[in-house]
Amino acid sequence: MTPSAFGFELTHTDGLARRGRMTTAHGDVETPAFMPVGTQGAVKGVTHRELDALGAEILLSNTYHLYLRPGDDLIARRGGLHRFIGWSKPILTDSGGYQVFSLSDRRTIDEDGAHFRSHLDGSAHSLTPEKATDIQSQLGSDIAMVLDECLAHPATETAARTSMERTLRWAARARDRFLTLRDTSVPGVTLSNPGQAQFGIVQGGVFPGLREVSAGETAGIGFEAYAIGGLSVGEPPAVMYDVVARTTPCLPADRPRYLMGTGTPEDLVESVARGVDLFDCVLPTRNARNGQLFTSTGRINIKNARYAEDDRPLDPACTCYTCRTCSRAYLRHLFQAGEINSSTLNTLHNLHFYLDTLRQIRDAIVFGRFESFRLAFHERLSRQAAD
Ligand SMILES: [Zn+2]
Repeated sequence: MTPSAFGFELTHTDGLARRGRMTTAHGDVETPAFMPVGTQGAVKGVTHRELDALGAEILLSNTYHLYLRPGDDLIARRGGLHRFIGWSKPILTDSGGYQVFSLSDRRTIDEDGAHFRSHLDGSAHSLTPEKATDIQSQLGSDIAMVLDECLAHPATETAARTSMERTLRWAARARDRFLTLRDTSVPGVTLSNPGQAQFGIVQGGVFPGLREVSAGETAGIGFEAYAIGGLSVGEPPAVMYDVVARTTPCLPADRPRYLMGTGTPEDLVESVARGVDLFDCVLPTRNARNGQLFTSTGRINIKNARYAEDDRPLDPACTCYTCRTCSRAYLRHLFQAGEINSSTLNTLHNLHFYLDTLRQIRDAIVFGRFESFRLAFHERLSRQAAD
């Protein structure tokens, strides 16, 4: 059996906040960490070189999209995702489940898995726990996710329990397949990264009791680490924070905890305060392309006419390339003109804001100042961007 290259060292704690270092087959990730989303093997608007300069240590890529185009077979023949896209640092891939479940009118779900039609050409496909594991093996990401059932919000407790129990059965199947691929040669499936790790996913909707059962049973199957799925789907932030707070104590303390698909800068700070170590979200990149910018004093909508002759940087407290070189007036002009540079400059700033916030969080935990950082962070943001 080839041991996973995966490891996690918890170096500091401050209250429930944790500072650590995650080791993968393609290098280390300082935690708590934010993973920019590179859906098609690229983060929209910025090059890998720029991501590297921003200090991004790990990328997330989407299995559903890469499976349909260009295909996991083609990527495996290119030597795996890292080589194909030219990114040598860690990569996490999702299972593809979230995108398939979002195809509400083009998919059905049964005990075997999810059956769907491609959004590109209408072709029929099945995504089972085994298939999602195989695709990610071929992609060769450093961290693979199990296929879980993503329940729409709101759901009754009965529906959430049924779904959570199916997710547990799928998790056991996915782990079996993962270990088989690691230990034996399976015809038709390339193991592009022998050091790949696999994370289990806790489900259970907004019901803390179900989350506790799911966390205990998923940990019982035995994964390299664990994620909290099915949140940030429309529930109020206070509910999400409560579910996170009830779930993290049920997960092994010596493994990283990944809150999937979350969230706003405030969500990140509040989730770190409840013991979360890893995040991903399209918010900084998607909002950047829509002209919505995160700053240390609140959000700015750059298309607003009030910025037409504003010579100040987006965020005077920010050290990113955009804030060092561009005025709000220029950024507004680029947005209004539909210039490609608008997306690039805005994305550089928003990602810098997220990655820098995580850097500040890590430093605060090391120095035992996380609680004062948290209070100051919310205090600054609550003073809405008056200008
Ligand atoms: Zn900036």
